[in-house]
Amino acid sequence: MVIRVLGAHLSELRGARLTSLLIDSALVVDAGGVTSALSLSEQKKIKTVLLTHHHFDHTRDLVTLAANTGYYWQGQLAVHAPRYTLDIVTKYLLDGTMYMNFLEYPSKEKPTLICEAIEPYTRKTIAGYDVLALPAKHSVPAVGYQITSADGKSIFYTGDTTLGISDCWQHISPQLLITEVAGPNEYGDWLKKAGHLCARFLKEELTQFRQLKGYLPRVIVIHIGNVFEQKIKEEVAQVAQKLEADISLGYEDMKVIL
Ligand SMILES: [Zn+2]
Ligand SMILES: [Zn+2]
Repeated sequence: MVIRVLGAHLSELRGARLTSLLIDSALVVDAGGVTSALSLSEQKKIKTVLLTHHHFDHTRDLVTLAANTGYYWQGQLAVHAPRYTLDIVTKYLLDGTMYMNFLEYPSKEKPTLICEAIEPYTRKTIAGYDVLALPAKHSVPAVGYQITSADGKSIFYTGDTTLGISDCWQHISPQLLITEVAGPNEYGDWLKKAGHLCARFLKEELTQFRQLKGYLPRVIVIHIGNVFEQKIKEEVAQVAQKLEADISLGYEDMKVIL
């Protein structure tokens, strides 16, 4: 399994893209920064998109990816997300008011985007992977995904979450955990309200992981608040040192091979 971080940041600016992962060239998880990260030939390989929640920084490239897919090679993309997320995305982002309705373009019979609801706690085979969606603790309904390849390689991506994501640990056994730290410890109260983690919260959740599972996987932190990046890096490094764990910040175009 090859995991490529397309976007690792909270804000988009030169050198920083919004949250997106690419798995083995064909599966995208969250669509914040897909089309600006990939060539057309790379985009053409994408067949499936998983969404953790409806926030714009995780969904907006559904539109630009669908445009390229629909206009240039008349392909189809399967979009999997919880029903709540799909309802909002189809109503506000893909309804055809501001741009093409890719749920009906080029035809209702063969649209560019095909949405399929995913049920939390239910395993589903998607694009050849065993996918398990588990509720995250965000400001809106959101899930994290455990994605396991046919050869048994497994990641868990929390999506946006705050404290309480540890409720998921009992259900998963990943070799790689991808999660978020949106701001520094001093903004902990605000981050909690906004449904995000700081390094201190991450330490609590990871401590519970180790207690419950008896190990800690490698951890990669994304959704990094750009202006706080140096501070977040230092605080995450302290957590890694205290837990004697492999925890590091992700970055654009980072590749991890499992
Ligand atoms: Zn969010
Ligand atoms: Zn976000």
